[in-house]
Amino acid sequence: MTYEVLDPRFRRLIISHAKLEKLYTGTRWAEGPVYVPAAKSLLWSDIPRDSLMRFDETDGSVSVFEHPCGHHNGHTLDDLGRVIACEHSGRRISRLEHDGRWITLADRFEGKRFNSPNDAVVKRDGTIWFTDPTYGIDSHYEGHAAQSEIGASYVYRLDPATGEVAAVVTDMVRPNGLAFSPDESLLHVADTGVSHVPTHPRQIVTYAVQPDGRTVRPHGVFATLESGVYDGFRVDREGNVWTSAGDGVTIYAPDGSPIGRIPIGESVSNLTFGGPKRNRLYITAQTSLYAIYVNAHPYGW
Ligand code: MG
Repeated sequence: MTYEVLDPRFRRLIISHAKLEKLYTGTRWAEGPVYVPAAKSLLWSDIPRDSLMRFDETDGSVSVFEHPCGHHNGHTLDDLGRVIACEHSGRRISRLEHDGRWITLADRFEGKRFNSPNDAVVKRDGTIWFTDPTYGIDSHYEGHAAQSEIGASYVYRLDPATGEVAAVVTDMVRPNGLAFSPDESLLHVADTGVSHVPTHPRQIVTYAVQPDGRTVRPHGVFATLESGVYDGFRVDREGNVWTSAGDGVTIYAPDGSPIGRIPIGESVSNLTFGGPKRNRLYITAQTSLYAIYVNAHPYGW
């Protein structure tokens, strides 16, 4: 079964006869998908292999885009179409310039090195909001083992115009995936703290963006999972949350009720909307890259 419909609201977000496609297999831990429209390609990470992979939509071929790459994890695009990367071993937020150079946008908070940036989103004002858990320094598998200099895992706001870095969320154990609601009044953040604190709830937590557009306040729990974790997720233009959830993708309505599920069969790490009409959901799960056409689009499209 391709879809599980949990609520009638899900039916108009899907193409009922569209099937899940497995586009590539062979990664150790696939993560961080970003669709690059001008290149008709999807880039994604194989973190343990320290490789940035590329799926070419025009012929279905897969190649290594960059290796080594600083153990990239999450990616996103800025408003000029440049790729923003979260680097585990680079321990930085970097940007791929139009001339092909990777430049450092930030690698420290108050003089201390980041842990290992995990996932990022660009707000419409151009600031980059990203999470910084320890998965890239916990062992030598997804980066280089090291002690945390900061001693905590925060969500940061980075202004690439000035280099200013501010901690915006400091009450999570291991903040991971994140996304804004379509009007950017809410920031959703997944906490995978169960990896380090076994009793920690598996949740996506919502924060209310304050009128200054720069700070947030706790707003409430958006969704809770019984097993597995929420890692990366995206919000469509109606505010539905399409999220990794254990071994599948779960779709939540803006009110937090689960309305549908796409079983994948292995741990899903992240996803993104791609294709010329942004209606192709690309899904990274541990060993493989999947895709399925849906009747939803990301905000901004
Ligand atoms: Mg992640």
